[in-house]
Amino acid sequence: MNTTANFSIPVFCRILLSLIIIFSLFKQPLQAQNYEAKSVIYNTLLGGLSGGIGAVINKKPDQKWFKAFRKGFLTAACGGAIVYSGKKINYLVGEKKELGYAWLSRIVFSAGNSIVENASANIDVWKRWHFDVGFIRLEFKTGPFNFTPRIMPSALGGIIFLASNSKFNVSETIRSGTFTFYTSVINYAPQLVASTPTNGIVHVTSLRGPIFYETYAHEMIHTFQFQEFSGVNYFFKPVSDKWKIKSNSFRKLSKWVYLDINYELMGANYFLIQGGYKKNYCNNFLENEAEFLSTGRPACK
Ligand SMILES: [Zn+2]
Repeated sequence: MNTTANFSIPVFCRILLSLIIIFSLFKQPLQAQNYEAKSVIYNTLLGGLSGGIGAVINKKPDQKWFKAFRKGFLTAACGGAIVYSGKKINYLVGEKKELGYAWLSRIVFSAGNSIVENASANIDVWKRWHFDVGFIRLEFKTGPFNFTPRIMPSALGGIIFLASNSKFNVSETIRSGTFTFYTSVINYAPQLVASTPTNGIVHVTSLRGPIFYETYAHEMIHTFQFQEFSGVNYFFKPVSDKWKIKSNSFRKLSKWVYLDINYELMGANYFLIQGGYKKNYCNNFLENEAEFLSTGRPACK
C-alpha cells in the first residue's frame, strides 16, 4: 500500500514550502526587485501546475480528475521547491570560487525535477530519478532497480552547435559536471561574455578572476531552466504509450531516446514570453533569476 507515501508527500511539501518561503521573505521583504521570492513562487507553481495537469492527463481509470490534480499539484509543488533550492545552491560557486558546488546544485535540482516528472506521469513519487550529463539522461528506476542512459535529441543538437563553434574544456566539465566550452567571441551574441544554449555553457576566453565564478553560477541556473519544463513531457505519455503498442521500432527507440520537449519550451519561454536578451535583458525574469540567485543582484543595476 502506498497510503503512507500519499499522505507524507503533502505534509513534507507543506513543511518544505513554509520553511523556504519564510526564509526568503524574512531575509528580504517581498518587493519588485526581490527575485528570490519570485523564484520560489515561479518554481513551485511551475512544478505544481505541470505535475497537476500531467497527473490528470495520466490519471488511473478509477481516479477522479480533481483528486489526481490535487495529488499531482502538491507533489510537484514540493519538487518545484527543491528545484528552486538546487538553483540557489549555485551561489556557493561564486561565493567559494569552487566549481565543485555545481555538482551539489545539480544533484538537488535533479531530485526536485524527478519528483515533478513522477507527479506528472502519475507514478509513485520515488519510482524514477534522473541526472543529466550534457545530452545524456542517466535514468534510475527503483523496485526493481534499473539503470538506463538515454539520449536527449534537443540537448544533443545544442551541444553539437556549441562544439562546432567553440572549444571543449575537459577540466572544467569534470569539475562542474556540466559541459563547458570556450571561444574568443560568442558569434551569435558578441555582446555577451557567456551563454547557455543547452545543457552546456560557453565562455569567452578573456573571462577570468572572481567574475568568472559568478558568471559560471549564473549560467548553471540557465542550464537548469532548460530542464525545468520537463513535467510537460509527460502530457504526451498517452500518445507515446499508444505508439509503443503500434510500432515495435518506436518502442525500442524510446528506451534509449528521451524526447526533451522541455528544451523547446525553454526557448519559447525565454524569447517569446520573457522577451529574449537583445531588447529585454534587464526585465527578462530568467536572466534576473539566474543573476539574483547566484549573486544577490538583479540582471541590471
Ligand atoms: Zn544569463
